[in-house]
Amino acid sequence: MADYDYDLFVIGAGSGGVRAARLAAMSGAKVAVAEEHRVGGTCVIRGCVPKKFMVYASEFAHHFETAKGFGWTVGEPTFDWPVFLAEKDKEIARLSGVYVRNLQNAGAELIHGKAKMTDPHTVEVEGKGSVTAGKILIATGGQPWAPKDLPGGEHAISSNEAFQLPELPRRIVIAGGGYIAVEFAGIFNGLGVETTLVHRGPNVLRGFDDDVRAHLTEEMEQRGIKVLLGAQHGSIEKTAEGLVSHCIDGHDLVSDVVLFALGREPYTEGLGLEACGVALTETGAVKVDAFSRTNVEHIWAVGDVTDRINLTPVAIREGQAFAETEFYGRPTSFDHEMVASAVFSQPPIGSVGLSEADARHKLGKVDIYLSRFRPMKYAFTGGHERALIKLVVDAASERIVGCHVVGPDGPEIIQMAAIAIKMGVTKPQWDSTCAVHPTLAEELVTMREKYVPPGLGQAA
Ligand code: NDP
Repeated sequence: MADYDYDLFVIGAGSGGVRAARLAAMSGAKVAVAEEHRVGGTCVIRGCVPKKFMVYASEFAHHFETAKGFGWTVGEPTFDWPVFLAEKDKEIARLSGVYVRNLQNAGAELIHGKAKMTDPHTVEVEGKGSVTAGKILIATGGQPWAPKDLPGGEHAISSNEAFQLPELPRRIVIAGGGYIAVEFAGIFNGLGVETTLVHRGPNVLRGFDDDVRAHLTEEMEQRGIKVLLGAQHGSIEKTAEGLVSHCIDGHDLVSDVVLFALGREPYTEGLGLEACGVALTETGAVKVDAFSRTNVEHIWAVGDVTDRINLTPVAIREGQAFAETEFYGRPTSFDHEMVASAVFSQPPIGSVGLSEADARHKLGKVDIYLSRFRPMKYAFTGGHERALIKLVVDAASERIVGCHVVGPDGPEIIQMAAIAIKMGVTKPQWDSTCAVHPTLAEELVTMREKYVPPGLGQAA
């Protein structure tokens, strides 16, 4: 190690890179981190954190409506986008500063600039020269993907720009049916923007439980989002009336902004991976083993650039496991099973484990417990709002293998449910837990009747 300028060079100061760099530096290793943009990565700068602020901002519209049912007189609420943007940017700058200080306090050196590996032990940072390192960690994350050949595609923005729109549009068309599409649909709709979601599939959120997908679509429509399923952009035309999304199924949608949320791709451009012989997967992600090591002995990769589970806490845990293994002598690999996730749609979703379809495919016989009900909070509003709670249980072992919550606080609820489910809780053990009343979550431990999905009959 002593022959190198650094023991560890981390490329990318996002969630995974920063965790790994800090822990490695705290072990006494000499660590440098290169970042070409702002410290904090996608999550802090143009992802989870600003998104959550936007969700909070947009939810007030719904709260004002709910308040009326409880006797409040709410005047005509107005929303000031520039005021919100300024507050959001202030908080993001503060958090980015916290990340910088945490790195510095741990003793890691921060280098601003685009880094490129020129051989497995050498990194060149644009404008700063070359340094050598015993180990290199790639933690460059991902970037929005969009079709390159779609006529007029240049008129569409990605989520990156959605956080910085100079003004709130009157109408928006959002393409995609994944996390980002449904989250931004809820945000813009809540902020009073006429919102249309265009998705090619039969329902949003492919991979999630089918009841959850159907429920969310219904709820989004109830709140005023126009959801076009089985539809896809053929081209975008800029006209005097606005941007016209010409969809392949024949719809022509006029809007002021078109947001493409069609997935993300690993950010590997210009990293020098080929020069170092670092292998990629079929999807262009850096290929790693269970310890996040690439095929090149001294190079590792964590987070979205490896396209395993693209979630901030996963990147953090992968970065931590790398540091534990390589700098603390404790071989650790992160367990990617039973990772809970939340979708901050409106209503939000918390989900852990298998969908019913995946469980049936994997385990054969499963028992389903499902409850759809009006959350108490909406008892006075006269609306149609419903929450959905679903448990998927392996019939043979009685273990709960999936838990899905759509409704207020779904993401908060799922964090706690995930602990028990990851520990292998059985349905009888789960049911022996006394309810907390009156809550939405109590429904989770009071479902006794097996649910028979329509069409499956009693034999299911
Ligand atoms: P997703 O992969 O979740 O969704 C992409 C969507 O785009 C899918 O609905 C997909 O349809 C559709 N799509 C892909 N290609 C095309 C195409 N050529 N034409 C039309 N539609 C297309 O990506 P996101 O961008 O929403 O999010 C990226 C990742 O970021 C997520 O997977 C998640 O890991 C992470 N994330 C997590 C969040 C959270 O934790 N709350 C929030 C935001 C992002 P189909 O289903 O048919 O393939």
